Amino acid sequence: APLIELTDVSKRYGNVRALEGVSLEVGAGEITCVLGDNGAGKSTLIKIIAGLHRHDGGVLRVDGEETRLSSPREALDLGVATVYQDLAVVPLMPVWRNFFLGSEPRKGVGPFKRMDIDLMRETTRGELLRMGIDLRDVDQPIGTLSGGERQCVAIARAVHFGAKVLVLDEPTAALGVKQSGVVLKYVAAARDRGLGVVLITHNPHHAYLVGDRFVLLRRGTMVGNHTRDAITLEE
Ligand code: ADP
Ligand code: ADP
Repeated sequence: APLIELTDVSKRYGNVRALEGVSLEVGAGEITCVLGDNGAGKSTLIKIIAGLHRHDGGVLRVDGEETRLSSPREALDLGVATVYQDLAVVPLMPVWRNFFLGSEPRKGVGPFKRMDIDLMRETTRGELLRMGIDLRDVDQPIGTLSGGERQCVAIARAVHFGAKVLVLDEPTAALGVKQSGVVLKYVAAARDRGLGVVLITHNPHHAYLVGDRFVLLRRGTMVGNHTRDAITLEE
């Protein structure tokens, strides 16, 4: 089964139809891009998958199981991690402390209380390196990293703590060309490690660089849903 499957999902706020009949899938090792202008329903879609809002029509399945998520914690426990644009990092804390922040032991997660600081440093450095970022000084405050590097740390953290699905909210929106490239390569590395990725973006170029599936929203409805093959021109 796909890791995430939405079938005919709808969501209203009062009488605003924020989403109407949206269907999409995210498989393991796949990046599904969700594209659309402001007001298209991208945030609403994220919030449903991340457990911040409940959908009021249609079906959401996570790992084949129908569910109506009622909290971000519940989503996380099912392996769905969301990285928001305004990353929840503490700028003055070292990179490695941010990496382990909020990772209180729960089922399936290592006993980090017993890890010493050197091990946490090594783990942080190792996870970043594993996906191609050589950050020698993980003691520097995370606020000194570039926006792109901070996104990568947040993604690495989700991967390390066992996420199966990574939901990324406009990860390149605030970044320049070079930093966007760094982040997109990192997103592709997460996909190559087998995660399912939902990449929300309003940048079609960024979507095309890494996407396997493309969902286009307009005013809450889905006006396109294509695999990469379908939009790749014949040679
Ligand atoms: P996007 O993220 O693509 O900009 P949103 O999901 O934020 O789109 O919004 C989709 C529609 O739902 C818009 O018309 C927006 O104004 C409306 N909307 C979003 N959140 C709320 C809310 N909490 N209450 C009322 N309307 C909302
Ligand atoms: P984002 O930048 O993540 O797309 P927005 O700036 O669109 O978020 O919205 C910020 C918050 O306000 C969100 O929680 C969204 O659901 C809510 N919101 C958006 N549009 C409306 C609206 N028309 N009425 C009430 N709340 C809204």
